[in-house]
Amino acid sequence: MGKKELVVATITVRSPSSANLACKICHGPSVLYGVLDFNHPCEEQKHLRVPLVGIPIYYRRCETCGFLFTDAFDDWSLDDFKTHIYNGDYQIFDPHYCDERPNANAGMVMRIWGPQKTAMRVLDYGGGNGVLCTALRAYGFKEAVTYDPMVQAYAGQPNGRFDLVTCFETLEHLPDPMDGIGKIVKCVADPGAVLYSTLIQPDDIHNYGVAWWYVGPRNGHISIFTKQALEVAWAKHGFKTVVLNPALHLAYRNLPPGWNLTMP
Ligand SMILES: [Zn+2]
Repeated sequence: MGKKELVVATITVRSPSSANLACKICHGPSVLYGVLDFNHPCEEQKHLRVPLVGIPIYYRRCETCGFLFTDAFDDWSLDDFKTHIYNGDYQIFDPHYCDERPNANAGMVMRIWGPQKTAMRVLDYGGGNGVLCTALRAYGFKEAVTYDPMVQAYAGQPNGRFDLVTCFETLEHLPDPMDGIGKIVKCVADPGAVLYSTLIQPDDIHNYGVAWWYVGPRNGHISIFTKQALEVAWAKHGFKTVVLNPALHLAYRNLPPGWNLTMP
């Protein structure tokens, strides 16, 4: 019998280093914090019993702001992400991606901004399939535009600035979230705001480490924020960010007075 070769997926990630790396948000020292197999999904999909692929993904955590991240994918192109994560299997790992979540989010935007809708330009950043904007247009918003560099139909750069930019479940997917936030900021009118979701770490994250349910390379959850990390990230652009609930946030320089939103 000839020598057997182990055939594994042709996935190449950056080799881990035991050195402190600079935090992607605040440049604080970030040491190795935990490791998960590439195929590890978020908690909701654990029942799928996905086979391990033997590719370790190391996460680090910043000692200053608590940002939890991996640099394993920092050499990947958009095509690499499309091939290995946002591929035909992705919906299995994120079953609410298609209709349920965007329609629920559109309903929330309508409840908050319904009175101003006929004058509002809305951009959905990272909007995937355009379902949220279709719903907002049906609700009567003046304009609702989808932008998503991962989806060819919506990859064109949006024109001008928008009163409201929505960005649901996106920041945790970005290998360079500062770059992503910088791009979002360029789309926001002043006054104007960004309504975005990403789940921040619980206070007892150390009890779970990378086993905390929201961390999952196969879901593309590679940048996990704390409240402090979000504040540092947005402050670089002169934005405040307010935690509406642990998963939902509003960032802005100045809120339009006509919105009658009172922030803490
Ligand atoms: Zn940091």
